[in-house]
Amino acid sequence: MLNIIIFGPPGAGKGTQAEFIKKKYNLAHISTGDLLRAEVKNGSALGLEAKSVMEAGKLVSDNLIVQIMEKFISENSTKFAGFLFDGFPRNLAQCDILEGMFAKLNTKLTAVVALNVPSEELIARLLKRAEIEGRADDNLETIKSRLQEYENKTFPVIGFYEKSGKVISINGAGSIDEIAATITAEIDKLK
Ligand code: AMP
Repeated sequence: MLNIIIFGPPGAGKGTQAEFIKKKYNLAHISTGDLLRAEVKNGSALGLEAKSVMEAGKLVSDNLIVQIMEKFISENSTKFAGFLFDGFPRNLAQCDILEGMFAKLNTKLTAVVALNVPSEELIARLLKRAEIEGRADDNLETIKSRLQEYENKTFPVIGFYEKSGKVISINGAGSIDEIAATITAEIDKLK
């Protein structure tokens, strides 16, 4: 299996690049943010619990994340050549959760593709996305809180994977096509 984490701060382009990667390598794309937004839209109990936390730009509990991940994996693990994790793991506890999931599936992580984008550009991109997609959490106050959560809780995740030499660092500031070409060239080297 080819198991990739696409990593980076909010607005780095993880979702955009995930679209290319999942098609090219036939990967099941797990975007925890998309799965949570679907639960909020459905008005499920899980969605109700997540909604206010997401609107405040904070991370939802690991327990909720485990529930949505397990549901997704049980429905998709046999249909694809591997997984593409987007927006997960978001803290060190979730790194351990992922290790446990891989052990159960008898597989392991292939690589972490880390997108690096300067923070001024992140805010500009997120405000632009707010105009286009109208996401409830793309307003300046929530964006600042999301970037803070990223610095405090998510950034240490990269250190965890650097220890095992699995991180591929990519400059995420170019054009969408250029970045996609760089990422796929790096993944091709691993195969
Ligand atoms: P995203 O679409 O990845 O930017 O996620 C949107 C929001 O969903 C985040 O600001 C968090 O509130 C929540 N979220 C998404 N993924 C996770 C995760 N792995 N752990 C905790 N909260 C998450």
